Formats: sequence, structure tokens, C-alpha cells
Amino acid sequence: MQLKIIHRSWKQNGSSIPAFHACIVGAGLSGSVIAERYASWFRDRKVLMVEKRNHVGGNCYDYTDKATGIRVHKYGPHLFHTNHKAVWDYINKDDLQRRGAGGWIRWDHEVLASVENSHQGSTFVPVPINGISLNILFNLNLTTDEEVKTWLDLHRPRKEDRCTLSNEKRETEQKECQNAEDQCISRVGQDLYNIVFKTYTEKQWGRKATELGPEVTARIPVHGNFDSRYFQDPYQALPQKGYTRFVEALLNHSSITTILGLNFFEVRDILEDGKFCSELFFTGPIDAFFDEKLGKLEYRSLMFSPRVFFDVGESSHVQPSSVVNYPSPDVPWTRSVEYKQFLRQKSNHTIVVYEHGTKYVAGQNEPYYPVPNDQNRRLFKMYQELSKRLESLNQSDGNRKPKVHFVGRLANYKYFNMDEAILNALNLFDHLYVNIHGSGSG
Ligand code: UDP
Repeated sequence: MQLKIIHRSWKQNGSSIPAFHACIVGAGLSGSVIAERYASWFRDRKVLMVEKRNHVGGNCYDYTDKATGIRVHKYGPHLFHTNHKAVWDYINKDDLQRRGAGGWIRWDHEVLASVENSHQGSTFVPVPINGISLNILFNLNLTTDEEVKTWLDLHRPRKEDRCTLSNEKRETEQKECQNAEDQCISRVGQDLYNIVFKTYTEKQWGRKATELGPEVTARIPVHGNFDSRYFQDPYQALPQKGYTRFVEALLNHSSITTILGLNFFEVRDILEDGKFCSELFFTGPIDAFFDEKLGKLEYRSLMFSPRVFFDVGESSHVQPSSVVNYPSPDVPWTRSVEYKQFLRQKSNHTIVVYEHGTKYVAGQNEPYYPVPNDQNRRLFKMYQELSKRLESLNQSDGNRKPKVHFVGRLANYKYFNMDEAILNALNLFDHLYVNIHGSGSG
């Protein structure tokens, strides 16, 4: 890897560091895509990337585990999938290949949930729920898509008692879903909700499903067929050389300087000086940027407990699928991930990582998920107003600060998937520069 990385001690001799056109806070997907776009589009402009962790990639970061030789995603399993051809084309750009990204290998992710049922005891069923799951769970013998759809329809609330999402087609008398529970019950009915979603959601989020927005469970569809794949998107793949290599390739550009292990908040006086940075892109939590002056937004964090199984055999596994979900109250973790199964890695050993939802405490763990509920939505809107005011500040009005832009999951306080994070960054860049300047190298 040939990233230009300077040591964090630069702060002490900061005067020798040249000014940058764009300073970017956070080397996750969003920030790194902005960095790549900026450096490629404006060939002569210098970009500074500041990352508080000791690695790039944000929560996509992966590494090879020493004991097993298996590539592990440090912050939980990341499965790339998208409907957006523009995103797919972007991550497959020749340019990135030349800079060492590696290709993307088709990977149709599948998940099993470990559940109890009355006729078999403990068993595994595919999630999202589909005909195979129903046959196992309820001892049925559904054989056609029509039968699956009919069964599902009969076991959901009556049409007039179902709610719909704000962006879904609504039949006249249906109301809008208010929370994750009414959304989920409307979609799958009470029994499946109890078996697969209720406790999992409570463990994951540390609160009742009624205290979460409907978009949380709406992420998981129900299939009126026998398709067990977790995602239906036309493009789904894993990076052959890993996410870290991919993000390094984004940043591997002669105009980009990356500093690892440097917290923006320790140096914000320098980065917010317009003489040092003309533009500032912030990808961290939006409330932290504004010193939480309107109050704290809530985030959910995760804890990971790895366990190595030695000498299981080169191609052998200890789980029936790469990811097993545990919607039972008797198991403390939400899911367990056997990373060896991703891209069918070979090792004589295997490693399983058990994942628990946990409270986010600033400085102690990472903020993974924005918590979607009315209170946080309202507070976020207020921060968004502040951010819009900053974004619209005109530098020619004697303002000596850089223009500030907010990008990514934490700055937008939105449960973005990886492709949405990339799309958000690409769209912001186009909106700021491409649609206006219309020149550059692309
Ligand atoms: N969920 C659930 N049971 C499952 C899988 C998901 O209840 O077996 C719910 C849970 O509330 C979760 C949400 O659906 O937070 C979204 O799941 P997804 O797999 O998209 O979560 P992520 O991988 O982003 O953590």
C-alpha cells in the first residue's frame, strides 16, 4: 500500500504543513469516496484526510486474523449489495483496480435464524422469511409461490388493520406505521413477529420495538417464494482483497494525505481555519460537531466476542451458515458470524464472532446505528438546520472559516447501507462541483 500517511505529531510543527483545498474528517466509505472524487476531479488540489482510528475503512475495516489466517470484519459483517448501477460502476472503476482495490466477487448472502419450534425443538430457518422458513417453522408442505403468498396473507392482520410505510402504496383506510412493531406485524403477522423479530430487535436496540421507527424492521422483507437470499439486489458482492484494501485504493492518490490516529476535535481550531482548509467535510456524529449544544442524539453500539476453533479441517465450518441470528431470549448475543465462510476461505481453523447490541458511550465504544425515533428525528432536524446555515455561509463575506459539508451515516443520522453511503457521497460531490463547474477529469 502506498498511502501518504503523516504522523499525528504534525500538530506540533503544523506550520510546515501546506494548506489543503479539502480537509475530510473520517476515513470511512463516505469520507474516502469524497477524497477520491475530489483528488481525481481537481487534479491540482490537495486533500487532507484525518482519521481518529489507527486504520482506514471506518466500520468496513477488515483484517487477517493472525491465529487462523481468516479475514475478519472488525466491526461486524459487511455484505455489499446495491440496486444502483452508478455505485456498482464506481466501485469497479479501472482506476481503483490500478490503485490496488482488487475485484468484487459475486456473493449471495444467506442467513439462518436459530429458533425453537413445537414439533422439532431447536432448528434453523432462513431469514428473510420465505416458503422454506414457513415449512420448517409450522410443519407445512407449501410447494408453490402461490401457496406461500396465500399462507402469509392469511396469517397477517386483515387488510384494513395493516399499516403501511409512508413511501408505500396505501389502500384507502390503512394508517401509516408508527413503529417497528406495527410495521413488522402488518407484514408478517403476530406469530412470525414473536418468533423472529420481537426479541432480536429488543436485544439489538436495547428497547421495545414500539420505541423504534418502522424503517428498522422494514429493512427485512418477506418473500412470497422460496428465495432464501438475504438481499434481492442485482449487484451483491464481496471485495476479493477486502474492504480495507478497497478503501486504501480510494485514498491511494498523490493529492491525498492521510493522518491516522488523530481526533478532529483535538485539532479543529487548525482545520476550521480557512487559511488551512478551504472546504471541510465532516463524517462524524453531527451532534458532536456542534458540541451537543442542542442535546445528545442517541446511537446504538455493538460488542464483539470472538472465539477460535482450532483444527476443524481446511474447508470445515462450525455453523450452518456464515451468519446465524438468535431471536431467542435465552441467548445473549444477537448473531454469530463465521467469517471463514465468506468467499469460502481456507484455513485449518475457524473463528466465530458473537455480536451483542450495547449502549453507546462516547470515548468508550463506537456509534454504529442512529436510533430512529421521534425524539431523535426532531433533534436531528434542529442540528440539520445548524448545518445548513454553516453550509450556506459565503466565504467572500469576510468569513475566514472553511465551507463545511456533512456527509455519511453519522452526519446524516441515517441508517445507510454501504451503497447508500457511497451514493450519498457521490451525489454530494456532484451537487457541489460537477453540476456547477462541469470541468475536471472525472
Ligand atoms: N431483525 C430481526 N430479526 C432478524 C433480523 C433482523 O428482528 O433475524 C430486525 C432487527 O430489528 C434489526 C433489523 O431487523 O435491527 C434490521 O436488520 P439488518 O440485518 O438489516 O441489521 P444490520 O445488519 O444492519 O445490523
